[in-house]
Amino acid sequence: MFNKILIANRGEIALRVHRACKELGIQTVAVHSEADVGSMCVRLADESVCIGPARSADSYLNISSIMAAAEITDSRAIHPGYGFLSENPEFAEIVRASGLTFIGPDPSVIRLLGDKVQARKAMIAAGVPVVPGSDGEVCNEESALKMAREIGFPIILKAAAGGGGRGMKVVHSDAALVTAFTVARNDARHFFKNDKVYMERYLTDPRHIEIQILADNHGNAIHLGDRDCSLQRRHQKILEEAPSPAITPEQREQLGRVAAKAALAVNYTGVGTFEFLMDRGEFYFLEVNTRIQVEHPVTEMITGVDLVKEQIRVAANLPLTMRQEDVQIRGHAIECRINAEDPETFIPSPGRISEYHPPGGCGVRVDSDAYAGYRVPPHYDSLLGKLIVHGANRAEAIARMRRALDEYVIGGISTTIPLHQRIVRDGTFRNGTYTLRFLEEFLKNNQ
Ligand code: ADP
Repeated sequence: MFNKILIANRGEIALRVHRACKELGIQTVAVHSEADVGSMCVRLADESVCIGPARSADSYLNISSIMAAAEITDSRAIHPGYGFLSENPEFAEIVRASGLTFIGPDPSVIRLLGDKVQARKAMIAAGVPVVPGSDGEVCNEESALKMAREIGFPIILKAAAGGGGRGMKVVHSDAALVTAFTVARNDARHFFKNDKVYMERYLTDPRHIEIQILADNHGNAIHLGDRDCSLQRRHQKILEEAPSPAITPEQREQLGRVAAKAALAVNYTGVGTFEFLMDRGEFYFLEVNTRIQVEHPVTEMITGVDLVKEQIRVAANLPLTMRQEDVQIRGHAIECRINAEDPETFIPSPGRISEYHPPGGCGVRVDSDAYAGYRVPPHYDSLLGKLIVHGANRAEAIARMRRALDEYVIGGISTTIPLHQRIVRDGTFRNGTYTLRFLEEFLKNNQ
């Protein structure tokens, strides 16, 4: 096992990784920007190194600064968290070339799955159903038109290197396609420095269901059930739950088996997420996220498995501590993402937290690095933390989330807590029949 891990991230996930390391007896190094000197992970880590100014490009994305910090602290491995450099194959290669371990899959696997066009092809080869769409890249307007007519409108144009729900364009007609194609390409170049785009049929009312995978370097790949992430605003997840109220145990088992088999087929190792859309009872592969995900705690709550510890063990070449038949799904878990944003306009609300009282009690978990006096910097993503609850069943989990949200006090800034309070009281959410369209309509009706 490693004796020291450098955490190349910030916020709640840096703290989450620090906690896993401590339980494994591993020393931690927190790297941070000038804006994050006061963060909880920096306070708790064994060592910390400032890697640059507030701007992410100069700090959390600055590979040479991070590598220098790893060298001076004699770190043995780097945990990239999510976002930032977590799915950057060049970074993973540099870490490896420096004689350190990158805590994630092999760089070649990150590269393959990071290109969504290549990932689709690999999944088709592994027998995984994909959303009907283009066989490869859509190169020009003529082929875009031809393909769209074949697939049938509406279609969605997506960046091959895309992520974070950005740069997607839904198109309903021939007339709109030409402009949308140009815009999609420019957006892809701008956001992802790669103008490759592809096309899928746009499913109008699906659910987002994903499978958590865990695989080691010894030929074992298992799944830990599903998460339902259909509560989204602008393609970004707001609330997640596990297991999905919309699928049967048989469907879960079957989808899990398909994903675990596909993980083996592409030599996947570590933790990973296979994302699918479910439409009229059919599942269609969307993409693989080659890192720990924001919503991983709901899976931890229903399986009792610490995914970050497993991820670190796998990176240290240890075999999985469990077999597929050992994985038991117990009860129900829900996660609310608490963002430092206005709950109605979603405008970021950075600033000083004057008062902080997290909820507690049976079945409640708070993954957040916030504290009274903490200043939420304006430079990054507005995720302040996650409130996760576990109950014996979905009804208990919803009741528990309601009361935990009502207990949560964060003063001085605006947060999305009031939005969650309204969602968990909504009839459609409570009966579990919501789809990807739900939240946008809910927001329109509740203004
Ligand atoms: P990203 O990598 O940017 O997160 P994904 O491919 O995972 O992109 O898609 C993110 C979200 O966008 C999905 O959860 C869904 O809401 C929407 N989406 C993507 N593809 C489709 C599609 N073919 N039909 C309908 N919605 C889609």
